[in-house]
Amino acid sequence: MRTVFEKSRAGREGVWQEKPAASASDFIPAGLLRGREANLPSLSELDVVRHFTRLSRLNFGVDANFYPLGSCTMKYNPKFTEVVANLPGFARLHPLAPQLCVAAKWCQGSLEVIYETERLLCEITGMDAFTLHPMAGAHGELTGALIIAAYHADRGNKKTKILCPDSAHGTNPASAAIAGFEVVSVASRDGIVDPEALAAALDDSVAAVMLTCPNTLGLFERHLPKIVDMIHDAGALLYYDGANLNAILGKMRPGDAGFDVMHVNLHKTFATPHGGGGPGSGPVGVSAALAPYLPISRVVKDEEGLYYLDYDYPKSIGYVAPLYGNFGVILKAYAYILRLGREGLIRVSEQAVLAANYLRVRLESCLDIPYNRICMHEFVASAEKSAQATGVRALDLAKALLDRGHHAPTIYFPLIVKEAVMIEPTETESKDTLDLFVEDLQRIAAQAEHAPEEVKAAPRAMPVGRLDETKAARDMVLTADLAPAR
Ligand SMILES: *Cc1c(COP(=O)(O)O)cnc(C)c1O
Repeated sequence: MRTVFEKSRAGREGVWQEKPAASASDFIPAGLLRGREANLPSLSELDVVRHFTRLSRLNFGVDANFYPLGSCTMKYNPKFTEVVANLPGFARLHPLAPQLCVAAKWCQGSLEVIYETERLLCEITGMDAFTLHPMAGAHGELTGALIIAAYHADRGNKKTKILCPDSAHGTNPASAAIAGFEVVSVASRDGIVDPEALAAALDDSVAAVMLTCPNTLGLFERHLPKIVDMIHDAGALLYYDGANLNAILGKMRPGDAGFDVMHVNLHKTFATPHGGGGPGSGPVGVSAALAPYLPISRVVKDEEGLYYLDYDYPKSIGYVAPLYGNFGVILKAYAYILRLGREGLIRVSEQAVLAANYLRVRLESCLDIPYNRICMHEFVASAEKSAQATGVRALDLAKALLDRGHHAPTIYFPLIVKEAVMIEPTETESKDTLDLFVEDLQRIAAQAEHAPEEVKAAPRAMPVGRLDETKAARDMVLTADLAPAR
């Protein structure tokens, strides 16, 4: 497909404009005027509409296709949240307005959204206080790790390590390392944290343990009460990676379970289309003992019920993001939580878990499932047997699914399962869609036995076929000729 610049034809116009009565130099200072014409393509309105409509059809997205991407909660995102985020009173607000005393009066609604979202997240998770500043899950982890460091430093504790189970999402050890901790991996047994391995790794130097529950295998950490006590007895804190909150909404609260710090991925659990690199939001919740270290600013309410920004927290770790985080994402989460309400959020986790277990049981016939027991919102299958028998690997299954109109599941993660195929259907897919996915995977598995070369040649129906992924990452061509020139 040609770029808009290649389609440009000198003199072609979109909108007929009368010559303006005033010229820019009448009101823009000379030093700020452009020296030469802006390099814009000359196209008709129809050229532009067709160009972008065609481009959008090359996208593989959740609005058109099933997206069982494990560990990502790629749910269908209700469109009403977009309407709310676009309300002019929110969308047109100047980002610096809340900083000005006078203008703060005009943005009471936006400040209230932040204040109330924090309160709702406290209620949902059982934590005592939240910050909405972090702009992604990983950013929340880093913020949490810095809060943990500040807590220990304040008490004169010499703590240098953070423990992460070997099933952890890669961002956990990365965030802990960036916050200055030494990261120690703890082996799991039968898919969950092994309390003995944890006990062996716990000593005076451990600042915190980062847990994901349910973990990245979709399994609930059954030894949780024992683990929590062990960690606290060792003088360490417990971090809860809340990316999988979808699975436990309304059923369990990390704060009640004894976690000290956690993050929530608003862009996974509470609407906002996830993927394509953003925008995201990774609020961090803490217990009362850790609240003094939260980043600034904080939104507070005075006696008259007016909201304002407060910076007076001497023990705060400081700024982690400009302004107030990704406000549009926060707004969508707020609208989503209010719309679903208590009962709706409980149904989210029940449906998500039911859908995952339905797929798990129906796919037993064509995929190996190493930890095959009741799962939470996702499960991990393995293509290892087929890889050995026919050479058809997890990557090939993923590519073949694209040809049949499904996005690929997450593959090769978590690392503790060979040839991993990680499937998360989410609560929003119908049984019809799940059944179609099962039938298509069964067809691909049958094809892998009879004609493995066919599966390895997929995808054939996509704008691009198999890529050399290393070359694609190292030698990026961003003006690819994707489809026949039109
Ligand atoms: C997605 C995810 C993260 C990281 O969140 P981002 O918003 O992508 O930075 C961390 N942990 C788990 C378990 C996740 O699934």
